[in-house]
Amino acid sequence: MSSFEHCPRKGGIDVEMRQIDFTNTQVASSETARNINRGVVLNLIRKRQPISRADLARISGLQRSTVSLITEQLIREKWVVYGATGRLPRGRRPTFLRLNDRRGILVADVRPTEITIAVADVNGRFLSHQAIATPQNPRAAVADLSARMRHLVEVHSDLIFEGIGISVPGRFDPVSHHIVFAPNLHWPEFDLKGPLEKATGMRVDLENAANACVLAEVWFGHAEKVRDLVVVTVSEGLGTGILSNGQLVKGRNGMAGEFGHASLNPDGPQCTCGGRGCWEVYASNRAALRYYQESGAAPNGPTFHDLLSLAEAGDPLAVRALEKMAHAIGSGMRMLVAGVAPEEIVLVGEFTRQWKRLGPIIEAEVAAASLIGNPPRVRPAAAEPGMARLRGTVALVLQKHFGPSGHTSSARPRPRDRVLVRTQ
Ligand SMILES: [Zn+2]
Repeated sequence: MSSFEHCPRKGGIDVEMRQIDFTNTQVASSETARNINRGVVLNLIRKRQPISRADLARISGLQRSTVSLITEQLIREKWVVYGATGRLPRGRRPTFLRLNDRRGILVADVRPTEITIAVADVNGRFLSHQAIATPQNPRAAVADLSARMRHLVEVHSDLIFEGIGISVPGRFDPVSHHIVFAPNLHWPEFDLKGPLEKATGMRVDLENAANACVLAEVWFGHAEKVRDLVVVTVSEGLGTGILSNGQLVKGRNGMAGEFGHASLNPDGPQCTCGGRGCWEVYASNRAALRYYQESGAAPNGPTFHDLLSLAEAGDPLAVRALEKMAHAIGSGMRMLVAGVAPEEIVLVGEFTRQWKRLGPIIEAEVAAASLIGNPPRVRPAAAEPGMARLRGTVALVLQKHFGPSGHTSSARPRPRDRVLVRTQ
């Protein structure tokens, strides 16, 4: 345990310094410390709302006067509003604070066949959403998205829009922001961010779909106290997002987590990435449809949704195809267990509708892969798949105000939970 945990609680600089991870930081300027404290207070309000200033001070360890200064600023900037008034047995009633749900975020989830566009508030509640067929050409997609988003801003004129978050089924260059690797999308390399920012006048943040699901788990899910987590998204393809020691792992060129394109068999079926026998070739929705067709069952190919319905109705060939897919998902997870040693693996995908049948198959594969100790927990995501990605993009847009990951525990954050000022 860190010696910081034994420090008597004090105000001022001691407390402010305590919130920086010394193993990886340089001395913070007073402005940086102010920003750190602002993020800490904003996050506490987000998680504990409605909350009084006294509780904010008690839980954060910051001085009451510091908390007052920060909350006044947050109210001026319309991040925070006065909420319910708490009822105390005696004495004056403190005024409680909550996030201003008139702050809006525009989000889009781009998938190979469909784009969902939604308006969310700062608490991740969705106020409206619509789906469009994914245009074949990225220019048409940018034009359509811009027009729809401008329209949504007009319709929701009571909201203060903070920005746009987009989840993409691939990777983008962190410098040029061009989508550079999205094998299932079949779009050429292009810039999604620049033209959309120009057309809407708002900042656009992009994130890989699996990484967005990690953010959703950390912000809105049950993963608050988990620091080593992998999210596996299974749809047309298969992606993974990795949270290691409480940080989202990006890797060189933002390419970390492409386990779906690790080849398990160089002589296996062709993959959309150009390789052969990739994990996703065996474990994606498309793989399950291929298994079903190979069993001679489907002359006029069902969709994955149909396949799930067939299995629910007891079709033995559909059940077998899904079980084969689940075995492939689980056996590929051996790479994750051996390489990342997660505490928890969260699955996002339509197939989780059949978790009762398919979950135990995946859990058994993961248990068999475990080297020592208990195997990682395996569970489906709290939100249904489309929602997980959209909520992740809400977190993506907001996280710069709430600290890098928003990953503070709800009670007494350990010092390492606040890695906020990094040296390069
Ligand atoms: Zn591949």
